[in-house]
Amino acid sequence: MAQGPQLRVAGIPVRVEPTFLVVLVLLGLPQPWFHVLTWVAIATASVLLHELGHAVAFRAYGIRPSIVLHGFGGLTSGSGELTPARRIVVSLAGPLSALVLFGLPAVALQASGAVSPGDASVVLRQVVWINVGWSVLNLLPVLPLDGGQVFLDVCDIVTKGRGRRAAELVSVVVAVVLALWAISAGVLFGAVMAGGFAALNLAQLRKVRQDELADRLDTAHRALLGHRPAEARAEVDDVLRRRPADTVLGWAAELRGWSVLMAGDVAGAEEAVRQAAPLHQPSAALRAAVALASGRYDEGVAVMAWAFAHDRTGPPKSLGAVAVGGTGTAGPVARELLLMGDEGRAGAVLLRDLLAYAGYQGAAAEVEAVLAPSA
Ligand SMILES: [Zn+2]
Repeated sequence: MAQGPQLRVAGIPVRVEPTFLVVLVLLGLPQPWFHVLTWVAIATASVLLHELGHAVAFRAYGIRPSIVLHGFGGLTSGSGELTPARRIVVSLAGPLSALVLFGLPAVALQASGAVSPGDASVVLRQVVWINVGWSVLNLLPVLPLDGGQVFLDVCDIVTKGRGRRAAELVSVVVAVVLALWAISAGVLFGAVMAGGFAALNLAQLRKVRQDELADRLDTAHRALLGHRPAEARAEVDDVLRRRPADTVLGWAAELRGWSVLMAGDVAGAEEAVRQAAPLHQPSAALRAAVALASGRYDEGVAVMAWAFAHDRTGPPKSLGAVAVGGTGTAGPVARELLLMGDEGRAGAVLLRDLLAYAGYQGAAAEVEAVLAPSA
C-alpha cells in the first residue's frame, strides 16, 4: 500500500507514494483541469527540489540520503548521526533551496510585469505560492517542520541537549496561533494541519513529563532498596504534588506506602497508599510486609508467597524481598512458594535473585537451599 514508483534523481533514491499525487490533485481541484495539471507538476517539482536540498546537504556530510514523497509532503532521511549544527544546515537546506531557486526568481518575474495576465501568470502564481508560501511555513518554529527542527537544535545547543521541552512548548504556541489565523482566513486545510501540529506537540510534552516523573520514582525506589526511606518519601511526595497520571500515580502511591512502612509507621503504610491515590490498592507485597512488621507472621508469609507466585506487577516485589530479608522469613516464604507449583518455583527463583540484589546474601542462600533438593 505504501509502495510507489522508485526513481533516482542525481543518484538519490526517490519514492513517490500514490497518496502524494492524490492529495496534490485534491488541493488543486477547484480550478480548470489545465491549471490542476500545471499545479500538480509544479508542486511535485517544488517539493522534490525542497527534499533534494536536504539530500544534498546530507551527502555533503557523508550521509547517504533517500527521499519519500507522501500524502503530507516529503521526507528525506539519512542513516547516521549528525551534530546539532550540521542538522541545522540540513534542515535549512530544504526550504531555502525551494525559496532561492524557484520562489524568489518567480517573485522577481512577477514584479517585473513581463508576464501578461493569462495561463502563464496563473502558472507563475502557482510557482510563487508553493515555493514562497510552503517554504516560509516550513521555516516556522513548529515541530516536526524544518523550522521546528532548527529551533530544537538551537535550543539543544544553548541548553546542552535539554532543549526538547522548550521547542515543543514554542511549537504548541505557534501552531495554535497559526490555526487561529487559518480559521479566520478561511483556510480549512491550514487550520486542520496547524491543529494537528499543536496536538502532536502537546501529546509529546505530556509524555515527556510523565517519563520524567517515572525517572524520579526510580530514584525513590533505589533509595528504599538502600534503606533510605526519608529520602524516598521526599522524592515521592514531590512527584505526587506534580499530579502524575495513571500508572505513574499508582507506583508513586505504592512507593509512598513503602516509605511510610520503612520509616517505622507500620499502621500508617496502607492508608498512605490510599490517601495518595484513592483508586489504587496497596500491592500484595506491601500488605504482606505490613503483616510481617506487625508480627502477623503466618499471614505475612502466605501473602508474600502469593505475591511472588501470582502478582503480575513486578516492581513491588523488589521491596517485598527487602521486607523478607529484613524479617528473616526467606526460608518460610520459599517453602510456601514451592507448594504453589511451577509459578511458585519461578517466584522462589525471583525471590532468591532479588534478595541477593538487595544485599541479603544469607537469605538468598536460604532460598537456594529450599530450591535445591527438588531441583
Ligand atoms: Zn523539509
